[in-house]
Amino acid sequence: MAENDKLECLRRLQDVLSRKFELESQVETIPADLRHEEHVLEHERNKLEELEEKFKNVTEEVKSLSIKYEDAFNTRTGYEKQMEFLNTQREYEAMSKQLDEAKIQESALLRRRNSKTQETEVVTKELEEQRAKVAEQTAKVEEERGRIESILADINRQIEEKNAECESIKSGNISDDLFEKFSNIVRKKKGVGIVPVYGQVCMGCDRVLPMQFVIDLRLKMQQNEIEYCPYCSRIIYYEQLDPEMEKNYIFEQLEAAKSEGKGSADSSKSDSDSYDESMGMDEGFEDF
Ligand SMILES: [Zn+2]
Repeated sequence: MAENDKLECLRRLQDVLSRKFELESQVETIPADLRHEEHVLEHERNKLEELEEKFKNVTEEVKSLSIKYEDAFNTRTGYEKQMEFLNTQREYEAMSKQLDEAKIQESALLRRRNSKTQETEVVTKELEEQRAKVAEQTAKVEEERGRIESILADINRQIEEKNAECESIKSGNISDDLFEKFSNIVRKKKGVGIVPVYGQVCMGCDRVLPMQFVIDLRLKMQQNEIEYCPYCSRIIYYEQLDPEMEKNYIFEQLEAAKSEGKGSADSSKSDSDSYDESMGMDEGFEDF
C-alpha cells in the first residue's frame, strides 16, 4: 500500500510531541526542590521571628526586674539608716521586722533578675544561631533558584524548538484542527497516538475491529483520510502483514475475546479504551 503522507507526518509529529510533553512535565517537576528549600526557609524565618519576640520580652522583663530590684535595694538601705535613729525597743522591733521583709524581697528580686539575665544570654545565643541558619538557607534558596531558572530557560528553549519542529512537519499536510486533536491523543495515550491495525486488530487497544470498518479504513487511507479507532480513539492505519501471521492475529484476538465473554481482548489497557457508542464509527470523536 502506498505510503500516506499524513500518516507519515503524524508519526513524525508523535515523536516530537512525546519529547515536548516530557519537557513540559520536567517544567512542572523540576521546581519541586526549590519549593522544598523555600518551605524550609519560611520555617526557619518563622522560628527567627519567634525568637526575636522572645528576646524582646525577656529583655523587657530584665529591665523591669532591675528597676524593682533597685527599689527594693533602696528600701532596705533606707530602713537600715532609720535603724540608727530609733529610740525605743518597740520602734526597733517594728523596724527590724520591716527590714527583714525588705531583705527577703530584695534577694528574691535579685534572684529573679539574675535568672532572667541568664535566660537573655541563652536566647541571644539561640537568636544568633537562628540568624545564621536563615542566612544559610537564604543563600541555598538563591542558589537553587538561579540553578533552576537556567535549567528552565534551557527546557523552555527546547520546547520552543519542538513547537517549531511541529509547525514545519505540519505545514501543508496537517490542519490545525487535526494537529490539536492528535496532540491531545498523544498526551492522553502516553506518547502513542497513532497505531497500525494488523488484520482486524488495533495495536493500540488490541481490540478486534469489524471487518467492514477495516475495509473502509483501507479505502480512506487511499484517499489520504484519517480514521480513529472506535475503542481507544487513537489514529489508526492498516498495515499489511505476512498473510499467515495476519491469520494468527485475528484468531488469537477472537479467541481471547470469546474467553472473556466480551469484545475486549485486553481489559488491563487504559480504562479510557472503551467504545463510546455516541461517537459513531465514521465520525471523528468528540473527546479529543
Ligand atoms: Zn484501539
